[in-house]
Amino acid sequence: MLTSIKDQTVIVTGGSKGIGKGIAKVFADKGAKVMIAARGEKEAAGAVAEITEKGGIAAFACCDVADEKQVSSMVEKTVSTFGQVDILCANAGVFPQKKMVEMSAADWDLVMGVNLKSAFLCVKACIPCFEKAGKGRVVLTSSITGPVTGFPGWSHYGASKAGQLGFLKTAAMELSRYKTTINAVLPGNIITEGLEGLGQDYLDTMSASIPLKRLGSVEDIANAALFFASDEAAYITGQSIVVDGGQIIPESLEAIEEI
Ligand code: NAP
Repeated sequence: MLTSIKDQTVIVTGGSKGIGKGIAKVFADKGAKVMIAARGEKEAAGAVAEITEKGGIAAFACCDVADEKQVSSMVEKTVSTFGQVDILCANAGVFPQKKMVEMSAADWDLVMGVNLKSAFLCVKACIPCFEKAGKGRVVLTSSITGPVTGFPGWSHYGASKAGQLGFLKTAAMELSRYKTTINAVLPGNIITEGLEGLGQDYLDTMSASIPLKRLGSVEDIANAALFFASDEAAYITGQSIVVDGGQIIPESLEAIEEI
């Protein structure tokens, strides 16, 4: 049992959908006050409603995480709404699939901006809050794609996700003076609305390639984030954890068929 995070304020970027919504709901269930930061108002309002209807506390800040001014305003809105920022879950990300022969420099820059520059912008904007509180927690949503594996069409995405882990190491050192930790969760294949749309055949094929024989749930990722955000994880910083049902372990197709 982890020490309660009740009444702590958490920013979840990309909290309106998918993994981020899962993180927002799990943290809200544990009593945290949740600021959902995303661009689309309709989906964010839906996520806020799902939390508040269950008695949780949540609000929405419209924000493009690749834009420094918008990130500053989002953090200011969090402080004016909830009084502080205790935890930042920098989760927002995009994964447009394009092979290098078709990829433009603008495609590359977009993915780097939303997935990697945003981590720096969000962490930087929260530092005054962590400094004031004398503590803080940052959890990045990276991926197995990039740090551990590759997938055609995701060279920019993989670079951005591996880049997050490079950022993490020095950020852990710089944030230590504010008694703030920063760690990363590396999801495997997680069931989100988008993935469900690909059909049962696709889901079955993907599940068969994973030792635990199922895709991950958003709660699987949220629970790892919750641990990194807890008091019990106070001495862990600059680290990452793969949450993938063992997906990266088999060394060949034969190995998975042997199970
Ligand atoms: P998703 O369902 O597409 O949700 C993405 C979220 O990010 C949405 O809330 C979206 O809201 C927000 N977002 C996108 N661009 C943004 C921007 N420029 N500024 C602010 N918010 C933005 O994606 P997901 O599958 O949950 O993925 C979430 C994170 O997990 C990503 O970092 C992704 O790389 C990582 N991940 C996912 C998987 C997986 O299997 N799903 C696996 C490994 C890693 P708006 O579009 O309204 O802004």
